[in-house]
Amino acid sequence: MRRLLHYLKPYYKRMGMGFLIKLIGTIMDLLLPWILAFMIDTVIPKRNEYGIYLWGGAMLLCSFLAVFCNIIANRMASKVARDTTEVLRKDLFRKVIYLSERKMDSYTKPSLIARLTSDSYNVHQMIGRVQRLGVRAPILLLGGVLVTMTLNPLLSCILLVMVPFLSWIMVVISKRCIPMYQQLQKSLDQFVRIVREDISGIRVIKALSKEEKEELRFERINTQVVQREKKADSTMAIVEPSVKVIMNLALVCVIVVGAIQVNRGTTEVGKILAFTTYFTIILHATMMVSRMFLIVSKGIASANRIEEILGADGEESITIAKGIKPKEVPEEAKGAMIAFDHVSFSYLPTKGDEKTDNTVTDLTFSVKKGQTLGILGGTGAGKSTIINLLLHFYEADTGTIWIDGEEIGRIPLPKLRQRFGVVFQNDLIFEDSILENIRFGRDLSEEEILEALTSSCAKEFVEEREASEILYVKGANMSGGQKQRILIARALAGRPQILVLDDSSSALDYRTDARLRKGLMERYPDVTKVIIAQRISSVMHADLILVLEDGKIIGKGTHEELIKWCNIYQEISASQMGGESIA
Ligand code: ADP
Repeated sequence: MRRLLHYLKPYYKRMGMGFLIKLIGTIMDLLLPWILAFMIDTVIPKRNEYGIYLWGGAMLLCSFLAVFCNIIANRMASKVARDTTEVLRKDLFRKVIYLSERKMDSYTKPSLIARLTSDSYNVHQMIGRVQRLGVRAPILLLGGVLVTMTLNPLLSCILLVMVPFLSWIMVVISKRCIPMYQQLQKSLDQFVRIVREDISGIRVIKALSKEEKEELRFERINTQVVQREKKADSTMAIVEPSVKVIMNLALVCVIVVGAIQVNRGTTEVGKILAFTTYFTIILHATMMVSRMFLIVSKGIASANRIEEILGADGEESITIAKGIKPKEVPEEAKGAMIAFDHVSFSYLPTKGDEKTDNTVTDLTFSVKKGQTLGILGGTGAGKSTIINLLLHFYEADTGTIWIDGEEIGRIPLPKLRQRFGVVFQNDLIFEDSILENIRFGRDLSEEEILEALTSSCAKEFVEEREASEILYVKGANMSGGQKQRILIARALAGRPQILVLDDSSSALDYRTDARLRKGLMERYPDVTKVIIAQRISSVMHADLILVLEDGKIIGKGTHEELIKWCNIYQEISASQMGGESIA
């Protein structure tokens, strides 16, 4: 919560003004029944027409001021809530996009999305409500009680007797409800995750005829959400009727005792009328407080979830401190654009001395500027992990990665990543034109984009489409091969020093794939290329090919070398290209 207060600090003045205006409006609301009583008991019996107009005018003025002040204060409160959450969301988003991959893995992506969306909405609601009701409800409550005491001390005692009952109901029930709403929020996180998975994987579900299974999974979480919502809401629903029952009972007592007092001539009708109006005001104020309790408890839970991210120290950065002496460049890395020197890594952080299994183990290889590195291996062999380490998304547990003779941990991340043009597996096409999808916010001329389109063999089909055509999210209005060529053009357009293609020509036919490779060799001779592929034909011309199995290099060399001695490579080659390619 401390961090949230820091976000509110610039608005303290505006909030103070808003509270003051709200206070004036609330006092006007409290004055109305008092003036009414005064008119009935004092002005009307005197048959003083001037007095009636005067006090009637005062009532009108009070009503107008009450409404006017409330509207102004509510608007001010909404603006503070909007502006604060805008900055909060901006900072949270910034923090999330700079969060290291390891931290992201630990928080999980659906939870980060929930914190950016529903949690920030809950905080927005809390800031707004507290300003709108935080002054009004207590003033109405306290003011109401004080005025009723001056009006009729005996009747006020009835009011005071019921206060402990009302407080007990609100505190006990709200206490029970807070964990219930936290549970509900967790179910909603899961609900959003399942819906996201099902909608984005709808084709796979249909292709495997798994609709029923997914329906069942959805039904389970949907029922859980409904049940938790029902439990929390039905517990919370006890508050209003219980408060009303107690207040109505008290009201009956007030009217009976008041009527007796009027009968005995110890009080006036106007005062009893005003008293019952104050009673209703107090009833409403109590309800407001109970509703505020709920919104504040939800808001605090959400604010804490947001603060957990804002306070996290998992931002990506240079990982080798300035004072530490640079290592001596090993033979393997000398003159190389990329060099891995005995690199091992595991996604699971080591717990104390407990050793976890490595995802990749003891990787040592290097490629020079302009050369091509091919990486081959089954699914889960660790191919993409090499790219994750190369882009410094994760830090190697042991060993060193060298980029152009510099330890990767010393290179500022923007500088490091500027060197790369990358196409990831299942990379994203955005809902925008082809040109903008390639430009991607960078300062690129149309010539540069056209050149990239030509090199990625995308020019021919792009020319057939309208220049202004908007691509659908995830490229739904393009074939797999067309999508891949647009993505390759995006990676090439920035003129990278290192081009990484992670299984990104798999949807191209053999001819286009061959043309693409030829184009890359001819047009980008100085660019170092890292090509991950399932097809031998995509990597067979590489200067160095790594064959990976269970995160270990089981074959390293050129196609001609590997075909002679690497059994696995021979097997893949035989299965994909027939016997003719085996030497
Ligand atoms: P490949 O690209 O060869 O298919 P990856 O490098 O993506 O394989 O994955 C290697 C192994 O690491 C797999 O067993 C995979 O499940 C695991 N893995 C990949 N990413 C993560 C992650 N973010 N957290 C934990 N494990 C991961």
